[in-house]
Amino acid sequence: MARIAVAGFQHETNTFVDRKTELAAFIQPDAWPGLIEGAALGAAVKGMNLPVAGFLDAVDGAHEIVPLLWCAASPGGPVSDHAFEAVAGRLLRALAESLPVDALYLDLHGAMVTESFADAEGELLGRLRNLLGPEVPVFASLDYHANISPRMIAATAALVGYRTYPHVDMAETGARAWRLMQQHLGGQLWHTAFRTGLAMRSLVWQSTLSEPMRSIMREAGESRSVTVAAGFPLADVACAGASVLAYGDDEAALDATVASLAARLTQEEAAPEAVYAPDEAIDRAVRLAGDGGPVILADVQDNPGAGGSSDTVGLLRRMLVAELPGRAALGLICDAEAAAAAHGAGSGSAVELSLGAKSGQFGEKPVTGVFEIRAIGSGKFAATGPFYKGCSMDLGPMACLRCRGVDIVVSSRPQQAADQAMFRHVGIEPADYGILALKSSVHFRADFGPIAKAILIIVSPGASPMEPPVT
Ligand SMILES: [Zn+2]
Repeated sequence: MARIAVAGFQHETNTFVDRKTELAAFIQPDAWPGLIEGAALGAAVKGMNLPVAGFLDAVDGAHEIVPLLWCAASPGGPVSDHAFEAVAGRLLRALAESLPVDALYLDLHGAMVTESFADAEGELLGRLRNLLGPEVPVFASLDYHANISPRMIAATAALVGYRTYPHVDMAETGARAWRLMQQHLGGQLWHTAFRTGLAMRSLVWQSTLSEPMRSIMREAGESRSVTVAAGFPLADVACAGASVLAYGDDEAALDATVASLAARLTQEEAAPEAVYAPDEAIDRAVRLAGDGGPVILADVQDNPGAGGSSDTVGLLRRMLVAELPGRAALGLICDAEAAAAAHGAGSGSAVELSLGAKSGQFGEKPVTGVFEIRAIGSGKFAATGPFYKGCSMDLGPMACLRCRGVDIVVSSRPQQAADQAMFRHVGIEPADYGILALKSSVHFRADFGPIAKAILIIVSPGASPMEPPVT
């Protein structure tokens, strides 16, 4: 029986966002649990679509697990030095107290940037390697949007990435990391082949539901040990880029696999898909929806899952003047003040509010007017879609507000609109609407794709632009 230490520390950092990600963001729960330490880890993540949950399930008690710590913060600006040192310090202390171990598994994102470290996972893995010495194998699962550095590769026996975007295989990736670790602990010879820093495409064109990523990932999936990471483009750091990695005992075969996938990644273009301005999209959506729907307007540039504030109002303003009585909904607008005001006034009342744009970006002003409070909710509910599978959401006080015939779902914490339960929690049945505007780049497709009559990609202000800002 091996003794395996397990930990997780996830953040996807958008370096173009000024506001730093502080320790509180790692401590508080949102879609995923808050910071968990020690023995509570297994029960807190059980059944969730999370790599650490999949890893623990796959080990299934066959070995001794030493749970250290797990936390994640919503994507946003660089992690403060204080937050990074606090979490890394606790993780290293917990590991030091647990030694000796035979292996370490880490649930990481792979695109974390801190005030001091452009390659934060490389820094963390380097510190862990120093503590463990050269022999103990470290395995880490990574997000499909990881910006993988040679330093991360050098510090680990293997890095194992998600294969889907929407990420419906996060738990499965943890299980895949376990199977590789098992092979390694069994004494199999180990070589590594990789290419990093390859050209990236915009998040919207990275979906594995479309070409070329669909068939590239199918080729990668032919071997358990191969990872293709599309990279996170909203990171102005040297290690930003797509990557291909492979591990195993046949060095020549690994090299050939990596070369083939790297060539496809850099040479194959996405099929052009139309992108719309809000007015154009709303007109088109009204025509396409007819008496049915929903036609989804994907507000891809204000995706809180990529560092957006989830409170820009460019698309909302246009929907409010478009005369869409009772047939349109939009979510989520993150505005804790407006949610609190709605809770204060109560369901069924009408209040004068200023909604959204509180983050004060892009020269936007809040939408002001009288809003009918259709429903309020605690923000605590179970996710039902495949991306947030198994998650107990805690988005703070929520409300459904109606203004000029548009139903607006408001939350107190930013979370990507990628689960129908976010709407049902405040009385909205998404399939009943003609037009449904969602602040999400791609993840919404997992749960909303099957009910969508059509999907239109909108360009409206937001901190997750389709083209990264020029620096
Ligand atoms: Zn991702």
